[in-house]
Amino acid sequence: MKHTALANGVKMPMLGYGVYQIAPEDCERCVLDAIKVGNRLIDTAQAYNNEEAVGNAINKCGIPREELFIVTKVWISNAGYEKAKASIEQSLKKLQTSYIDLLLIHQPFNDYYGTYRAMEDAYKDGKLRAIGVSNFYPDRLIDLCNFVEIKPMVNQVETHVFQQQKEAHKIMDKYGVKHMSWGPFAEGRKDYFSNPVLLEIAKKYNKSSAQVALRLLNQSDVIIIPKSTHIERMEQNFDIFDFKLSEEDMKRISELDESESAFFSHYDPETVEFLCSLGR
Ligand code: NAP
Repeated sequence: MKHTALANGVKMPMLGYGVYQIAPEDCERCVLDAIKVGNRLIDTAQAYNNEEAVGNAINKCGIPREELFIVTKVWISNAGYEKAKASIEQSLKKLQTSYIDLLLIHQPFNDYYGTYRAMEDAYKDGKLRAIGVSNFYPDRLIDLCNFVEIKPMVNQVETHVFQQQKEAHKIMDKYGVKHMSWGPFAEGRKDYFSNPVLLEIAKKYNKSSAQVALRLLNQSDVIIIPKSTHIERMEQNFDIFDFKLSEEDMKRISELDESESAFFSHYDPETVEFLCSLGR
């Protein structure tokens, strides 16, 4: 496994497993399978309604806690110092652990400064090994980095072959923030797995289009957390370290970048209104 060092020296796996849209009743089995396959980084969130299932899997998997890297996120409705502080205790309880490896602010809405200050305090108390943000586009990220005591160490944003976030990546580098992808397959949108360029390159390396897409992100210094409920796909998604894309192939995939979201834009007023409504 390839690791990256966060700004505080904590080592984080560059590849893990995400549990968004996995029903609570399936999630424990999925996380146990993902860990069996070799994953040690698990990405959940308060809003996914499956932190308990992740906690059960952590307890049952037989892997020492210190070898796992657990990520969760504070939801918009828990924003603000006091609510965020209470929600961190809730997440620790649900995850059945005394510390979270990385806690992120899920969305840049509501009182995220208050949330961040609660996270800084929990970090100082040893309840969090690292802190960061998610869906912070360059404007919000620069703002936050300039006014907090402990800079965010990670920013998790939509990143895949059609939205490579090259400019945002440069800003993250400038502020010492590690780039983490969500939706590395754009959840299969845009005929992702049958894209002709990905398929052609995949054939050359005797790999799948999914593996080529993940490898592009890995070689671009992006942390990835593909989701699958199928163990064969988990195995495939984990098996990306025995080949290296050539510069020419990287360039060809790089050209697939459309530099826009396959889902929604955090700059679109309707999207912002929708997300804010979830926080009320
Ligand atoms: P994703 O990983 O881009 O795509 C998942 C989809 O791809 C599922 O339909 C899965 O199907 C399919 N798939 C997985 N591996 C495959 C393979 N090798 N071949 C063919 N199909 C494959 O989607 P995502 O779950 O949205 O993103 C990954 C993680 O990012 C999430 O689980 C979550 O942890 C995080 N996330 C964060 C945010 C945020 O706002 N911070 C937003 C979205 C996601 P099956 O499951 O049926 O196999």
